Amino acid sequence: MAGPKRHEVMNWETMTVVQQFVKNQSIATVDLTGGAPELNPEFRRLITLLHDLDVQIIDRCNLTVLEEDGQQDLPEFLARHGIHIVASLPCYLMENVDRQRGNGAFSSSLAALRRLNALGYGVLGSNLLLDLVYNPQQPVLPPAQQQLETDYRRELAQRYGISFSHLRVMTNMPLGRFAERLRADQQLAPYHTLLQLNHCQDNLNKVMCRTLISVNWQGMVYDCDFNQMLGLPIGINRGEEVYLSELMNQDLTGQPIRTGNHCYGCTVGQGSGCGGALA
Ligand code: SF4
Repeated sequence: MAGPKRHEVMNWETMTVVQQFVKNQSIATVDLTGGAPELNPEFRRLITLLHDLDVQIIDRCNLTVLEEDGQQDLPEFLARHGIHIVASLPCYLMENVDRQRGNGAFSSSLAALRRLNALGYGVLGSNLLLDLVYNPQQPVLPPAQQQLETDYRRELAQRYGISFSHLRVMTNMPLGRFAERLRADQQLAPYHTLLQLNHCQDNLNKVMCRTLISVNWQGMVYDCDFNQMLGLPIGINRGEEVYLSELMNQDLTGQPIRTGNHCYGCTVGQGSGCGGALA
């Protein structure tokens, strides 16, 4: 929903288009992402309206935002509206997280997780869902989701008394900064080859672009977030840009999807999507 730079933030006018689309198309789930969507000045207003439409709302939360000035009451707000929180936690070891995200990142994430647990998030028997996300930072395939979830659950409970609902394991897409790093290390082509060699045909029926669309801060529509990163507009209009307002009453079932080499990141091995492993 919100972009990382101040001017790349979805405004209220575009959000009203999103709400209208949700109503017209009977959308069941709205997934809010973009660095720190909670910092969008209209975030709480949007949540309140979507909540009244009885839509499931997912907040892709970076955890540290819950510790920022002015956001002290954010966990309670999210809990009150039954928001499903999905948060990236690249490891259960402090040194690994801090090395990747900077000193203090792990402590800050732990503090946020403790506050969420105290509200019932990720606690057995609670309806408040708190999922964690893992994706490898090296050019390797991710480990099996179920085994890694067991490890995360044991280690976070024993070391820090933290609980969560599910672990989502995702392939790291060879895009953006990860692709730049791989290119600099001359690892980009071998990583593409690794993904292609481990392509699993069965995953084609489950890739996320079959059931979702991605909308950027300006209201432009893509088949998925990865295509948005690549600037590939939704396939429905033969590659021309399309705004959500143009699709209000459009049946999107069975429409073409823009694909490319990066799609092997979704079909590789156990499969991958914003919900984690597909298999
Ligand atoms: S990267 Fe390709 S396969 Fe994956 S969701 Fe996007 S369009 Fe679909």
